[in-house]
Amino acid sequence: MPATKILNWSCKLKGVMDVPEPVLWDTVLEERKASIITKGKQKKHLKCDIDSVAGCVSQRACVYCGARVVLNPVTDAIHLVHGPIGCASYTWDIRGSLSSGSELYRNSFSTDLQEQDVIFGGENKLARAIDELVAKYSAKVVFVYATCIVGVIGDDLEAVCKAAAKKHNIEVIPVQSSGFAGNKAAGYRAACDALLRLIQPGELSSAPRVNTINYLGDFNLAGEVWIIKNYLQQVGIEVNVAFTGDSNYKALKNATRASLNVIQCAGSMIYLAQRMKELYQIPYLNISFLGLEDTATSLRKIAAHFGDESIMARVEELIERETTKVKPVLDWYRQRLQGKKAAIYVGGGFKAISLIKQFREIGIDVVMIGTQTGRKEEYQTINDLVDEGTVILDDANPSELEKFMLEKGAHLLVGGVKERPLAYKLGIAFIDHNHDRKHPLSGFVGAVNLAKEVYSTLCSPVWQYV
Ligand code: SF4
Repeated sequence: MPATKILNWSCKLKGVMDVPEPVLWDTVLEERKASIITKGKQKKHLKCDIDSVAGCVSQRACVYCGARVVLNPVTDAIHLVHGPIGCASYTWDIRGSLSSGSELYRNSFSTDLQEQDVIFGGENKLARAIDELVAKYSAKVVFVYATCIVGVIGDDLEAVCKAAAKKHNIEVIPVQSSGFAGNKAAGYRAACDALLRLIQPGELSSAPRVNTINYLGDFNLAGEVWIIKNYLQQVGIEVNVAFTGDSNYKALKNATRASLNVIQCAGSMIYLAQRMKELYQIPYLNISFLGLEDTATSLRKIAAHFGDESIMARVEELIERETTKVKPVLDWYRQRLQGKKAAIYVGGGFKAISLIKQFREIGIDVVMIGTQTGRKEEYQTINDLVDEGTVILDDANPSELEKFMLEKGAHLLVGGVKERPLAYKLGIAFIDHNHDRKHPLSGFVGAVNLAKEVYSTLCSPVWQYV
């Protein structure tokens, strides 16, 4: 693969911040071209939902990581990674999810597979690790994650977990997430399969309750689940359990008590919602609580599903009350941010879609947008929302992100932990919309937090010294 070369670029300061002047070699690989489009220039659909091109250094996480980010917020579970220590340390406390109860999930237990285990098999070591952990912590569920090497040596996770479950009389659930066996989206599916095994209705569950929902695809980063729960409580809707932010064994076991599933992060949870519809006849709705527009629309959508006029009236009151509070603040930021350009590269499509609308609310144009695991219908919505000339790309690599950010003159990159250094190396402002952030970005309050963060990074005096 030819490396992207920046032959010459400089960052000139005019006003708040000016953009680099790049001279780039056109380095997009032939095999990648179908996964990148510029709105208005190409009519064809973007190629997505496929495995990464070999050797492309994709920004995507592996299957195991996809599974881990979905399951890790289950607070009172033992999360045991069957593999080399690196897999466990890479995802240790990964989500930044908050808990109102147990803190057990913040540990990253590992079987620490070594050369000998690779040669002779790691099943005995895994069984011993489960025994040790169960003796030390009184958990009711253990998730055992497969990693790349486990897929290679062929340890029988299913059999070891079954034997351990019988021995200890608790649930020991294998997560079939060998790192190389697909992409991050396959990990989401493996996590959903593990959750489905857990929520099989048993002695704990009872009949669905009215006006009660499960909230899927929110991982309680910086307490976001609590914000949404609070809004819903105010209008008379109960959240049975969130998947998986601040969840626990008992609440997940009782998941079939809800009469509706609402999905925030569809990329990770649509499969679970579809299976729960097939198995337990629980319908589902796609929603998003990011930004004023989507938060209001989502609240209305949930209220309309229940068809209860008092809930609908309370939703309107809440939207009016909260919008009145935050609108003047957002207007203040819009006046100062008008005309700035943002590049977005996030995990899933729902977040990308909401961010386009949120940036519009504060006067910022999106000039490049991509995701790790966006689906065809999500890219269609993205294409409908963005302006002509915006670059849309799926499963990008650092060279492509760099090339298009510079070409489009982005002032700001929104991404996660892997994108942060890229932005800083280019002298572009960065905001984290993933695991590392400490403030909530959901709901009305989240819209203000986002605007505040964008303003403080874009208008920081530090750019004078670049
Ligand atoms: S599962 Fe494989 S790709 Fe994923 S962190 Fe472990 S070694 Fe790396």
